[in-house]
Amino acid sequence: MRDNPFLETDRAIVGDGYTSFEALDNLTILCDDFGSRFGGTEGEKQAADFMAEKLEHYGLQNVHLEPFDYLGWRRGPAELEVLEPVQRTLACISLPHSPAGEVKAELFDAGDGAPVTFEEGSSGMAGKIVMASSETFPAGSKSWVHRSEKFGRSLLNSARAFIFMNHYPAYGPATGGVGRGGRAAPIPAISVSNEDGSFLRRLLKRHGAVTLRIKTTDVNEPMVSWNVIGDLPGSEHPQELVMLGSHYDGHDISQGAQDPASGAAAVLEAARLLAAHASPLPCTLRFALWGVEEIGLFGSKAYVDAHSDELDEIRFYLNMDGAGAVTNKGLVINEWGALETLAKTWQRGIAYPFEIGQSVNAHSDHYPFLLRGIPTGGIESVPSSTSGRGYGHTRHDTLDKVELRELQDAAVLASLLAIRLASVPPERWPVTRRSPEEVGALLDRPEYRETAEVQRKISAFYKSQAE
Ligand SMILES: [Zn+2]
Repeated sequence: MRDNPFLETDRAIVGDGYTSFEALDNLTILCDDFGSRFGGTEGEKQAADFMAEKLEHYGLQNVHLEPFDYLGWRRGPAELEVLEPVQRTLACISLPHSPAGEVKAELFDAGDGAPVTFEEGSSGMAGKIVMASSETFPAGSKSWVHRSEKFGRSLLNSARAFIFMNHYPAYGPATGGVGRGGRAAPIPAISVSNEDGSFLRRLLKRHGAVTLRIKTTDVNEPMVSWNVIGDLPGSEHPQELVMLGSHYDGHDISQGAQDPASGAAAVLEAARLLAAHASPLPCTLRFALWGVEEIGLFGSKAYVDAHSDELDEIRFYLNMDGAGAVTNKGLVINEWGALETLAKTWQRGIAYPFEIGQSVNAHSDHYPFLLRGIPTGGIESVPSSTSGRGYGHTRHDTLDKVELRELQDAAVLASLLAIRLASVPPERWPVTRRSPEEVGALLDRPEYRETAEVQRKISAFYKSQAE
């Protein structure tokens, strides 16, 4: 049945959203004025203050910065030298949370990093420098095998250092954190371009053995960052919260324009549109711009820890990490069947097509909420994209890659969803927070089990190294 009780509000939001430059103007300032906004840079705090000012200006209430402590990281120069069978110096960068260190050892080519390559005890990696590419769906795997899993499996196989090789040609090296649970990596981890990685592979194939020297000079040290929070208070059930959020820190080697700034700009724009045309809604809308996601989801983790007595009040968290750069934008729900049924009724009522998907992954700011049992989802690609990050996490993730229309799509879709999420009367809201046992059962489903198990082992390894 086509029934849209929010038609007038939708029209106002769509009309304003698709005729405003605001989202692109904000994105331009975030990228060109504040740079990477990486944890510990000057632009990080400037960006946080800027976004808080914008939220105030749009009419949000209780706008403030929430500081939190975390283990930060400062990049130092890194060296990669081929010692045998030829002598060559290759360009490389450290991966965030790599320690400073120097390793001389033989190269082990772990290919695209398929889990089967890491069969424990028999892999032949022990004592070597393991190289794996950033291929997202390695041969034989049905789900995304994340960098942290490839790195972690190398650790479990007693590797002495790790090389991450970009699977895309011509993008240079890709970055990405290798810390875990607030701890730095136990061994040096660097990244090389596809071309240099291919060169190393060829050498190894032709000569049977390649000896490398890796030197890293990075610093891991305590730092402070900030989450930016602002509310549009609800009129009937102000204690019930619908949250929209994206991190704002990019990696230090880039502007992080697609990931995450296009998402942060879309959150700001949704805040502007909802404040102007839909406020107040029955429930409170809370907007969050998270600090330091890239090297460990630190901001969102700090939030759920600091607000643990209010988590029952969060009816839904909508994650918008990089949402302005996602193709085929839809609503991905993190395995809540009853919310899919509800969203389908909205889908039928709005003449604004969007797809709905269901999945779970651990790699953005929805995850700390998910682990606490809170219903979560995000503006993501439906069906999910399988090719990888593209320019993401390279120095080429720059402002010129993002289109105004894409930002508008993300902000408008998020706004239309937020109106509906915040308007369901409490007695008709179809889900309640999962218990810790229910969260455990979700992650123990066959499709998530292997990843969850190896992640537990890797975390235990980091802990054992720290003791
Ligand atoms: Zn991101």
